[in-house]
Amino acid sequence: MIIQTIKVLTETLEKIRRKKTINFIPTMGNLHEGHLSLIKKSQKKDYVSLVSIFVNPLQFSEKNDFKNYPRTLKKDLELLKKHNVDLIFLPKENFANTSLSIDIGQLGKKLCGKDRPGHFSGVALIILKFLNLIQPHFLILGQKDYQQILVIKKLIKDFFFKTKVIILPTFRENNGLAMSSRNRLIGGKKKHLTKIIFETLKAIEFDIQNFGFQKKKLNSIRLKLLKQGFEKVNYIEILKEKSLSKLDSKPSKSRIFISITIDGIRLIDNIAIRKKLVEQKGLIKTVK
Ligand code: AMP
Repeated sequence: MIIQTIKVLTETLEKIRRKKTINFIPTMGNLHEGHLSLIKKSQKKDYVSLVSIFVNPLQFSEKNDFKNYPRTLKKDLELLKKHNVDLIFLPKENFANTSLSIDIGQLGKKLCGKDRPGHFSGVALIILKFLNLIQPHFLILGQKDYQQILVIKKLIKDFFFKTKVIILPTFRENNGLAMSSRNRLIGGKKKHLTKIIFETLKAIEFDIQNFGFQKKKLNSIRLKLLKQGFEKVNYIEILKEKSLSKLDSKPSKSRIFISITIDGIRLIDNIAIRKKLVEQKGLIKTVK
Protein backbone atom coordinates (compact mmCIF):
# COMPACT_ATOMS: atom_id res chain seq x y z
CA MET A 1 0.00 0.00 0.00
CA ILE A 2 1.37 3.39 -1.01
CA ILE A 3 0.64 6.19 1.43
CA GLN A 4 0.99 9.82 0.46
CA THR A 5 -0.77 11.76 3.16
CA ILE A 6 -0.25 12.05 6.88
CA LYS A 7 -3.96 11.43 7.46
CA VAL A 8 -3.90 8.04 5.72
CA LEU A 9 -0.62 7.15 7.39
CA THR A 10 -1.96 7.83 10.88
CA GLU A 11 -5.24 6.03 10.26
CA THR A 12 -3.49 3.00 8.79
CA LEU A 13 -0.96 2.73 11.60
CA GLU A 14 -3.68 3.18 14.22
CA LYS A 15 -5.37 0.01 13.02
CA ILE A 16 -2.18 -1.98 12.66
CA ARG A 17 -0.48 -0.98 15.88
CA ARG A 18 -2.78 -3.01 18.12
CA LYS A 19 -2.02 -6.27 16.34
CA LYS A 20 1.43 -5.97 14.83
CA THR A 21 4.93 -4.72 15.47
CA ILE A 22 5.95 -1.80 13.25
CA ASN A 23 9.40 -1.82 11.66
CA PHE A 24 10.32 1.47 10.03
CA ILE A 25 13.05 1.86 7.40
CA PRO A 26 13.58 5.48 6.32
CA THR A 27 15.32 5.94 2.95
CA MET A 28 16.00 8.59 0.35
CA GLY A 29 15.14 6.18 -2.46
CA ASN A 30 17.27 5.06 -5.40
CA LEU A 31 17.10 1.74 -3.64
CA HIS A 32 19.95 -0.76 -3.84
CA GLU A 33 20.94 -4.05 -2.21
CA GLY A 34 21.98 -2.19 0.96
CA HIS A 35 18.47 -0.87 1.45
CA LEU A 36 17.03 -4.26 0.54
CA SER A 37 19.16 -5.96 3.19
CA LEU A 38 17.47 -3.77 5.82
CA ILE A 39 14.03 -4.37 4.35
CA LYS A 40 14.49 -8.15 4.20
CA LYS A 41 15.53 -8.26 7.85
CA SER A 42 12.42 -6.30 8.80
CA GLN A 43 10.02 -8.79 7.25
CA LYS A 44 8.85 -11.24 9.87
CA LYS A 45 5.60 -12.82 10.91
CA ASP A 46 3.43 -10.38 12.87
CA TYR A 47 5.64 -7.47 11.83
CA VAL A 48 4.69 -4.72 9.40
CA SER A 49 7.44 -3.10 7.36
CA LEU A 50 7.05 0.57 6.59
CA VAL A 51 9.55 2.02 4.12
CA SER A 52 9.65 5.76 3.50
CA ILE A 53 11.17 7.37 0.43
CA PHE A 54 11.95 11.03 0.90
CA VAL A 55 14.90 13.06 -0.33
CA ASN A 56 15.15 15.34 2.66
CA PRO A 57 16.00 18.88 1.51
CA LEU A 58 16.95 19.90 5.06
CA GLN A 59 20.01 17.67 5.16
CA PHE A 60 21.68 18.99 2.01
CA SER A 61 23.96 21.95 2.49
CA GLU A 62 24.46 22.40 -1.26
CA LYS A 63 21.50 23.04 -3.57
CA ASN A 64 23.15 21.19 -6.47
CA ASP A 65 23.78 18.11 -4.36
CA PHE A 66 20.06 18.01 -3.53
CA LYS A 67 19.09 18.59 -7.14
CA ASN A 68 21.43 15.91 -8.45
CA TYR A 69 20.56 13.27 -5.85
CA PRO A 70 19.42 10.25 -7.88
CA ARG A 71 15.65 9.84 -7.92
CA THR A 72 14.20 6.64 -9.38
CA LEU A 73 10.76 6.44 -7.80
CA LYS A 74 9.12 4.22 -10.42
CA LYS A 75 11.88 1.62 -10.20
CA ASP A 76 11.95 1.85 -6.40
CA LEU A 77 8.22 1.18 -6.18
CA GLU A 78 8.54 -1.84 -8.48
CA LEU A 79 11.34 -3.18 -6.31
CA LEU A 80 9.36 -2.69 -3.10
CA LYS A 81 6.36 -4.38 -4.66
CA LYS A 82 8.54 -7.30 -5.76
CA HIS A 83 9.78 -7.64 -2.18
CA ASN A 84 6.26 -7.51 -0.75
CA VAL A 85 6.79 -4.44 1.39
CA ASP A 86 3.58 -3.79 3.33
CA LEU A 87 3.56 -0.01 3.54
CA ILE A 88 5.38 2.66 1.55
CA PHE A 89 5.26 6.24 2.76
CA LEU A 90 5.98 8.94 0.18
CA PRO A 91 5.79 12.29 1.95
CA LYS A 92 5.18 15.40 -0.13
CA GLU A 93 7.96 17.96 -0.33
CA ASN A 94 6.28 20.21 2.26
CA PHE A 95 6.74 17.41 4.81
CA ALA A 96 10.11 19.01 5.56
CA ASN A 97 8.62 22.45 6.26
CA THR A 98 9.65 23.92 9.57
CA SER A 99 11.23 27.10 10.80
CA LEU A 100 12.84 25.24 13.68
CA SER A 101 16.42 24.16 13.80
CA ILE A 102 18.13 21.79 16.16
CA ASP A 103 21.65 21.89 17.52
CA ILE A 104 23.08 18.40 17.79
CA GLY A 105 25.93 19.53 20.04
CA GLN A 106 29.43 18.05 19.92
CA LEU A 107 28.33 14.93 18.03
CA GLY A 108 27.10 17.04 15.13
CA LYS A 109 30.40 18.90 14.82
CA LYS A 110 32.60 15.86 14.17
CA LEU A 111 33.35 13.91 10.96
CA CYS A 112 30.62 14.72 8.40
CA GLY A 113 29.37 17.58 10.59
CA LYS A 114 32.59 19.52 9.91
CA ASP A 115 32.21 19.96 6.18
CA ARG A 116 28.43 19.54 5.93
CA PRO A 117 27.14 22.33 8.15
CA GLY A 118 23.51 21.82 9.15
CA HIS A 119 23.46 18.28 7.77
CA PHE A 120 22.70 16.47 11.02
CA SER A 121 20.31 19.18 12.12
CA GLY A 122 18.37 18.46 8.90
CA VAL A 123 18.52 14.71 9.48
CA ALA A 124 17.36 15.15 13.07
CA LEU A 125 14.37 17.32 12.17
CA ILE A 126 13.06 14.83 9.62
CA ILE A 127 13.65 11.86 11.88
CA LEU A 128 11.82 13.65 14.70
CA LYS A 129 8.86 14.17 12.39
CA PHE A 130 8.92 10.51 11.38
CA LEU A 131 9.28 9.19 14.93
CA ASN A 132 6.55 11.42 16.27
CA LEU A 133 4.16 10.47 13.50
CA ILE A 134 4.91 6.78 13.14
CA GLN A 135 6.05 5.79 16.64
CA PRO A 136 7.58 2.62 15.23
CA HIS A 137 8.52 -0.22 17.55
CA PHE A 138 11.78 -0.61 15.66
CA LEU A 139 13.82 1.70 13.47
CA ILE A 140 16.15 -0.16 11.14
CA LEU A 141 19.35 1.60 10.10
CA GLY A 142 22.53 0.71 8.20
CA GLN A 143 25.97 0.86 9.77
CA LYS A 144 27.40 2.78 6.81
CA ASP A 145 25.88 6.01 8.15
CA TYR A 146 27.36 5.52 11.58
CA GLN A 147 27.35 9.13 12.79
CA GLN A 148 23.72 9.39 11.73
CA ILE A 149 22.91 6.37 13.92
CA LEU A 150 24.46 8.09 16.94
CA VAL A 151 22.49 11.27 16.25
CA ILE A 152 19.23 9.32 15.93
CA LYS A 153 19.93 7.31 19.10
CA LYS A 154 20.47 10.57 20.95
CA LEU A 155 17.16 11.96 19.67
CA ILE A 156 15.33 8.84 20.78
CA LYS A 157 16.90 8.99 24.23
CA ASP A 158 16.54 12.73 24.81
CA PHE A 159 12.95 12.90 23.53
CA PHE A 160 11.86 9.71 25.36
CA PHE A 161 10.74 7.82 22.24
CA LYS A 162 10.08 4.15 22.89
CA THR A 163 11.45 3.11 19.49
CA LYS A 164 14.34 0.62 19.53
CA VAL A 165 17.13 0.97 16.98
CA ILE A 166 18.34 -2.03 15.00
CA ILE A 167 21.68 -1.58 13.27
CA LEU A 168 22.58 -3.78 10.32
CA PRO A 169 25.97 -4.32 8.64
CA THR A 170 27.11 -2.36 5.61
CA PHE A 171 26.27 -4.15 2.38
CA ARG A 172 29.17 -3.93 -0.06
CA GLU A 173 29.89 -4.25 -3.78
CA ASN A 174 32.17 -7.13 -4.80
CA ASN A 175 35.17 -4.80 -4.63
CA GLY A 176 34.35 -3.79 -1.06
CA LEU A 177 32.82 -0.41 -1.87
CA ALA A 178 29.93 0.33 0.51
CA MET A 179 26.74 0.41 -1.56
CA SER A 180 25.30 3.87 -1.84
CA SER A 181 22.87 5.68 -4.08
CA ARG A 182 25.69 8.07 -4.89
CA ASN A 183 27.92 5.29 -6.31
CA ARG A 184 26.21 5.38 -9.69
CA LEU A 185 27.15 9.04 -10.10
CA ILE A 186 30.84 8.10 -10.25
CA GLY A 187 32.14 8.17 -13.80
CA GLY A 188 33.73 5.09 -15.40
CA LYS A 189 37.22 6.60 -15.41
CA LYS A 190 37.32 6.83 -11.61
CA LYS A 191 35.40 3.66 -10.76
CA HIS A 192 38.58 1.60 -10.37
CA LEU A 193 39.59 3.78 -7.41
CA THR A 194 36.53 2.89 -5.37
CA LYS A 195 37.97 -0.40 -4.08
CA ILE A 196 40.78 1.52 -2.37
CA ILE A 197 38.41 2.96 0.25
CA PHE A 198 37.60 -0.36 1.95
CA GLU A 199 41.15 -1.63 1.32
CA THR A 200 42.49 1.40 3.20
CA LEU A 201 40.20 0.78 6.18
CA LYS A 202 41.17 -2.91 6.29
CA ALA A 203 44.88 -2.11 6.02
CA ILE A 204 44.70 0.30 8.97
CA GLU A 205 42.76 -2.25 10.99
CA PHE A 206 45.35 -4.93 10.16
CA ASP A 207 48.19 -2.70 11.30
CA ILE A 208 46.41 -1.79 14.53
CA GLN A 209 45.66 -5.42 15.35
CA ASN A 210 49.13 -6.68 14.54
CA PHE A 211 51.71 -3.99 15.24
CA GLY A 212 50.02 -0.93 16.69
CA PHE A 213 49.61 2.17 14.58
CA GLN A 214 51.27 5.57 14.79
CA LYS A 215 48.41 8.07 14.58
CA LYS A 216 50.48 10.44 12.47
CA LYS A 217 50.51 7.76 9.75
CA LEU A 218 46.93 8.81 8.95
CA ASN A 219 48.36 11.89 7.30
CA SER A 220 50.62 9.90 4.97
CA ILE A 221 47.65 7.68 4.11
CA ARG A 222 45.66 10.82 3.29
CA LEU A 223 48.43 12.06 0.99
CA LYS A 224 48.68 8.66 -0.70
CA LEU A 225 44.93 8.65 -1.41
CA LEU A 226 45.22 12.08 -3.02
CA LYS A 227 48.13 10.84 -5.15
CA GLN A 228 46.09 7.83 -6.22
CA GLY A 229 43.49 10.15 -7.73
CA PHE A 230 40.89 10.99 -5.08
CA GLU A 231 40.04 14.69 -5.21
CA LYS A 232 39.61 15.17 -1.50
CA VAL A 233 40.00 13.22 1.69
CA ASN A 234 37.38 14.88 3.85
CA TYR A 235 38.52 12.89 6.86
CA ILE A 236 40.22 9.72 7.94
CA GLU A 237 40.03 9.20 11.68
CA ILE A 238 40.11 6.55 14.39
CA LEU A 239 37.60 7.44 17.11
CA LYS A 240 35.70 5.95 20.02
CA GLU A 241 32.53 4.45 18.63
CA LYS A 242 30.15 5.60 21.37
CA SER A 243 30.94 9.31 21.35
CA LEU A 244 33.22 9.86 18.34
CA SER A 245 35.75 11.27 20.80
CA LYS A 246 39.49 10.92 20.34
CA LEU A 247 41.19 7.86 21.77
CA ASP A 248 43.02 8.13 25.07
CA SER A 249 44.46 5.83 27.71
CA LYS A 250 41.04 4.38 28.55
CA PRO A 251 40.33 1.19 26.54
CA SER A 252 37.45 1.91 24.18
CA LYS A 253 35.52 0.23 21.39
CA SER A 254 36.56 2.16 18.31
CA ARG A 255 36.05 2.56 14.59
CA ILE A 256 37.95 3.84 11.60
CA PHE A 257 36.01 6.46 9.65
CA ILE A 258 36.70 7.74 6.16
CA SER A 259 35.13 10.19 3.77
CA ILE A 260 36.56 10.91 0.34
CA THR A 261 35.43 12.83 -2.70
CA ILE A 262 35.78 11.12 -6.05
CA ASP A 263 34.57 12.57 -9.31
CA GLY A 264 32.74 15.24 -7.29
CA ILE A 265 30.88 12.58 -5.28
CA ARG A 266 31.30 12.41 -1.52
CA LEU A 267 31.46 8.88 -0.14
CA ILE A 268 31.70 7.64 3.44
CA ASP A 269 32.60 4.35 5.08
CA ASN A 270 33.65 2.97 8.44
CA ILE A 271 34.63 -0.30 10.06
CA ALA A 272 34.77 -1.51 13.64
CA ILE A 273 37.95 -2.68 15.30
CA ARG A 274 37.36 -5.94 17.11
CA LYS A 275 39.47 -5.31 20.20
CA LYS A 276 39.31 -2.25 22.41
CA LEU A 277 41.91 0.44 21.68
CA VAL A 278 44.08 2.83 23.63
CA GLU A 279 46.30 5.64 22.43
CA GLN A 280 49.54 6.36 24.24
CA LYS A 281 51.98 8.99 22.97
CA GLY A 282 50.51 8.84 19.48
CA LEU A 283 50.62 5.04 19.28
CA ILE A 284 47.24 3.34 18.85
CA LYS A 285 47.15 -0.26 20.01
CA THR A 286 44.76 -2.97 21.07
CA VAL A 287 44.31 -4.07 24.65
CA LYS A 288 44.16 -7.73 25.57
P1 AMP B 1 19.73 6.48 2.42
O1 AMP B 1 18.69 6.15 1.42
O2 AMP B 1 21.10 6.55 1.84
O3 AMP B 1 19.38 7.65 3.28
O4 AMP B 1 19.79 5.23 3.41
C1 AMP B 1 18.66 4.74 4.06
C2 AMP B 1 19.07 3.68 5.05
O5 AMP B 1 19.75 2.64 4.37
C3 AMP B 1 20.05 4.22 6.12
O6 AMP B 1 19.76 3.61 7.36
C4 AMP B 1 21.38 3.76 5.59
O7 AMP B 1 22.36 3.59 6.60
C5 AMP B 1 21.00 2.41 4.97
N1 AMP B 1 22.00 2.03 3.97
C6 AMP B 1 22.46 2.77 2.94
N2 AMP B 1 23.44 2.11 2.29
C7 AMP B 1 23.60 0.94 2.95
C8 AMP B 1 24.47 -0.19 2.77
N3 AMP B 1 25.37 -0.23 1.78
N4 AMP B 1 24.36 -1.23 3.63
C9 AMP B 1 23.45 -1.20 4.64
N5 AMP B 1 22.60 -0.18 4.85
C10 AMP B 1 22.68 0.87 4.03
